[in-house]
Amino acid sequence: MYHEIAPPGETTSRLAVRPDAWAEQLAYLHGHGYRTVTVRQLAAALSGHGELPDQAIVLTFDDGYEDFHRRALPLLTEYGFTATLFVTTGWLEDAGPLPDGRDRPGRMLTWSQVAEARAAGIEIAAHSLLHPQLDQLPPRKLHEELSTSKAQLEDRLGAPVSGLAYPFGYSSARVRQAAWDLGHGYACAVGNVMMSEHPDLFALPRLTIRRTTGMEMFQEVARGASVPQIYLQDRVLTKGWAMVRRTRAAIGSVSRGA
Ligand SMILES: [Zn+2]
Repeated sequence: MYHEIAPPGETTSRLAVRPDAWAEQLAYLHGHGYRTVTVRQLAAALSGHGELPDQAIVLTFDDGYEDFHRRALPLLTEYGFTATLFVTTGWLEDAGPLPDGRDRPGRMLTWSQVAEARAAGIEIAAHSLLHPQLDQLPPRKLHEELSTSKAQLEDRLGAPVSGLAYPFGYSSARVRQAAWDLGHGYACAVGNVMMSEHPDLFALPRLTIRRTTGMEMFQEVARGASVPQIYLQDRVLTKGWAMVRRTRAAIGSVSRGA
């Protein structure tokens, strides 16, 4: 799971991977015989439709940063690789002003750049409208976030969109049901665990690639033999935080009387 591909001078995000590290990671995958598939292809294979190539690996990009078009796509194309791009449609550069005068998290893709990525063989999938914590939303708002983003992508791209990544990786049984009801075929969480042989198609785990991910750790992730130690700490934090958030959501729904 990638976010931005940008040097430290350009962004403060610790999730941003330096362009030289990104280039080195892709060269490694190419040089060692890895074959990229989209999450959609992965989900299909897991459901018994189609087979995965040997050494299959899935590259995903969240949010829709402009550097995907400028820095990620040219290298992916050069190596004949694909990826899945999860777009927060309300954040796109030409999506209009954000509510409450909020700022975008950075320079984002335009709709035409998203279409260009799709034409280059990248899977475009949903990542909500405005990137809320979906599990904290009341039902109507949850439906609006999921249905609007899916419909916007399908209208603009003229093709069905069957996948979703939960913003922050946060979901709940209610959120997963809503994604299914809307016709999504899979959804990605974060998890920072290796995928099991029979994963929940609506909580596919991913491993975070970030600025501090060195080549040795990247190779471990690619090999998929075990989860590098660094992710264990992430998991403890993720789990603890999930519990706090679930409690808050429960308190919120009691006080809302729903
Ligand atoms: Zn995101």
